[in-house]
Amino acid sequence: MARVVVLGAGISGHTAALHLRRLLDKQHEVVVVSPNSQWNWIPSNIWVGVGRMKPSQVTFPLKPVYDKHGVDFRQAKAVALHPEGDERTSKGYVDVVYTDPARAGETQSIEYDYVVNATGPKLNFAATPGLGPDGHTVSVCTYGHADEAAKQLAGVIAKLKAGQRQTLVIGVGHGTCTCEGAAFEYTFNVEHELREAGVRDLAEIIYLTNEYELGDFGVGGLNFKQNGFVTTSKLWTESLFKERGVKSILRAHVQKVEEGRLFYETLDGSADTLDFDFAMLLPPFRGQDLQAFAKDGSDITATVFAPSGFLKVDADYTAKPVDEWKAGDWPSTYVSPSYPNVFGVGIAFAPPHPISTPRKAPNGTVISPAPPRTGMPSGLMGRAVAMNIADMITGKSNTPQHHASMAEMGAACVASAGAGFTKGSAASMTMYPVVPDYDRFPGYGRSLTETTGEIGLAGHWMKHLLHVMFIYKAKGKLGWSMIPE
Ligand SMILES: Cc1cc2nc3c(=O)[nH]c(=O)nc-3n(C[C@H](O)[C@H](O)[C@H](O)COP(=O)(O)OP(=O)(O)OC[C@H]3O[C@@H](n4cnc5c(N)ncnc54)[C@H](O)[C@@H]3O)c2cc1C
Repeated sequence: MARVVVLGAGISGHTAALHLRRLLDKQHEVVVVSPNSQWNWIPSNIWVGVGRMKPSQVTFPLKPVYDKHGVDFRQAKAVALHPEGDERTSKGYVDVVYTDPARAGETQSIEYDYVVNATGPKLNFAATPGLGPDGHTVSVCTYGHADEAAKQLAGVIAKLKAGQRQTLVIGVGHGTCTCEGAAFEYTFNVEHELREAGVRDLAEIIYLTNEYELGDFGVGGLNFKQNGFVTTSKLWTESLFKERGVKSILRAHVQKVEEGRLFYETLDGSADTLDFDFAMLLPPFRGQDLQAFAKDGSDITATVFAPSGFLKVDADYTAKPVDEWKAGDWPSTYVSPSYPNVFGVGIAFAPPHPISTPRKAPNGTVISPAPPRTGMPSGLMGRAVAMNIADMITGKSNTPQHHASMAEMGAACVASAGAGFTKGSAASMTMYPVVPDYDRFPGYGRSLTETTGEIGLAGHWMKHLLHVMFIYKAKGKLGWSMIPE
């Protein structure tokens, strides 16, 4: 009998847990530890943030799904890993603290044969003074944050209707943020809502980003063939900004936020302030700050985790100049180099380096996107790790044989640019591979035909279809495993 403990029930952890349960017979245990009782389809938080959806439409309770599938769910947060056990046991275990209201604060040590760290990002609002829901800006990172953002946006719309001019700033709240695609989506959904409300003319919308150019999205931008010509996501994104009258501030790092005013610096070394009535700025991400201890109790956090708090896996973490970056630097099995039964997937694994070119202001401030680990790659990693663990438990192999490198997988991303079945639109992008590989694709690093970009109403329908499909899949309903990650 083996026990697999999955930490986190988001896109990667939940995918891993359901596949593990599908692949392993019932003599083996699958335990999921996650602090939130709800599953959240995070991409649709954008629509919660403009009031088009309610939190209940993007969430569902995890326990009934896990009960149905025979997964042992513990509503708790992991705080420490003991991959070598201790003087009592030679088995690895994880320390958890219950968040389940019935057991709140209770601690437990859960032994494992395999553990998957899929704890996603810690929303590091603290990196920028005044940033976030406890400060002076809103967020759409969780359904609760998004619900609050929608309320504030409704207040802005009411003021616009009363004839008051309003400035809305949307983007990223730190020079090292990732997830620019989500900020881009929220910008254009807000713009759409203001037009629908008939108040667009009194509103100024400013997209503030750490990207060097529009359309970078943290993946260094996209090149693709359209009508026989190579075009770029920069060109395409810039035309959308122009068409919708959205201004942009590029290459920016937000230093601090006060009530109604933010302070920022840019790559060229200049600094400025920006007054706002409404600001949705994403925080930078870091790992969940789990600790790790050796058998003798000594702290091995720095061995197991990168300084960013993300789990070190089978990546090449040697510091290299950009022109020496290789596709092979990226991990493919997500196994810890120190412990063969410890894995890190989704946002929780430590990437070897960014995808966009790293840049610093003259004073040393880093102002360039961290690499995104979006939904599709996170799901694919979760599935590959589940298959590897199942193979090792059932004796099919001794080492991980299934690979899911971001340098070998494609990803599709549909960025909503306004909700609505007749008036909605979305920017649909596919890229292959996610991490450029200049050896296989000289010049652009990606396939020019398997990388695409399109904007239109069909994209909105696609985004809505993904919402329905992925919630169906995550509920583990009939045929769930046939729906691709
Ligand atoms: C607003 C927004 C919009 C987005 N839109 C898109 C999109 O359109 N397309 C796309 O592909 N991607 C999108 N993304 C990115 C996508 O949401 C992430 O790639 C994906 O959620 C990452 O999956 P994950 O499992 O690594 O992390 P998450 O989905 O965040 O899951 C992490 C899990 O770990 C749990 N957890 C946290 N701490 C602990 C702990 N200490 N112990 C145990 N469990 C813990 C959490 O409760 C959660 O269940 C968007 C992101 C945001 C913020």
